[in-house]
Amino acid sequence: MNLIVCLKPVPEPGTVKVDPETHTLKRASSELIINPPDRFALEMAVELKERYGGKVTALMMGPPNAVPLLKEAYALGADELVLLSDRAFAGSDTLATSYALAKAIQKLSPFDLVLMGKASIDGETAQVGPETGAWLGIPSITQVKTLVRGENDAWVARRIFEDFEEEVEFSPPAVITVEPETNDPRPPSLKRLLAVRNLEPQVLSARQVDCDPTKTGLSGSPTQVLDVFTPTYEGKREVLSGEPEEVVEKLVSILRERGLI
Ligand SMILES: Cc1cc2nc3c(=O)[nH]c(=O)nc-3n(C[C@H](O)[C@H](O)[C@H](O)COP(=O)(O)OP(=O)(O)OC[C@H]3O[C@@H](n4cnc5c(N)ncnc54)[C@H](O)[C@@H]3O)c2cc1C
Repeated sequence: MNLIVCLKPVPEPGTVKVDPETHTLKRASSELIINPPDRFALEMAVELKERYGGKVTALMMGPPNAVPLLKEAYALGADELVLLSDRAFAGSDTLATSYALAKAIQKLSPFDLVLMGKASIDGETAQVGPETGAWLGIPSITQVKTLVRGENDAWVARRIFEDFEEEVEFSPPAVITVEPETNDPRPPSLKRLLAVRNLEPQVLSARQVDCDPTKTGLSGSPTQVLDVFTPTYEGKREVLSGEPEEVVEKLVSILRERGLI
């Protein structure tokens, strides 16, 4: 089984800087971590590999300084590491990101399942999974808690919602987004930590995965950030003065006027 796990490099909360000219995140200068929800997708992929056999490829689209995160993914159970990295991807919105990921996944074909986190902690749109499925022309199953392979390669995914769960039967290939907190990501293995010191990820450029330049980066992104600003909040205040009885009367009438009592 060929399992591909998409791991997003996200800025460590508190280290994010915004470029005042382009209004985009300065990802290259931020400290990066693996998007925490993606750890549950990686763990699910590694458990599937242990149960059914196969290999897990960790795929990350990001800047060159994301390499240590892929090495961390190896320590957590991934077998192959791929960094999709090119200046052409800078400023990608979710559509351009999912396009680039889909092109890389096609390059890594044949595959059975693509596993992703439910959402990132920075963009947090939860769009990239279903959009990648759409680019690849395969089904996407979101918010998955468990995956089981049945007879004749018919898989059952259990999806989790706020007040109910449902089971979906499907045949691979498919994109799965994994609900956070539904497994217990393992700690890094010492053996793997030692082995990964001599490993380098395969780095793929936009051209190497046959990306159409009009569909990548800022030019391929239909959503554009027009402005970035810190909202200001102005509290309105009114001071009531006079004798206590008078003030209470005024207060009660104001609250009545505003429908608050
Ligand atoms: C309107 C808008 C404009 C934006 N403009 C910019 C911009 O100009 N510059 C900029 O830097 N960012 C920009 N972003 C952020 C950028 O779109 C996101 O970083 C990217 O598209 C992923 O979207 P997301 O974070 O919402 O992912 P989600 O859809 O929440 O992520 C779901 C899952 O997809 C996978 N995934 C997502 N991204 C990657 C990745 N890079 N590699 C591997 N797997 C991945 C992960 O498994 C993740 O858990 C913009 C976002 C929006 C909404």
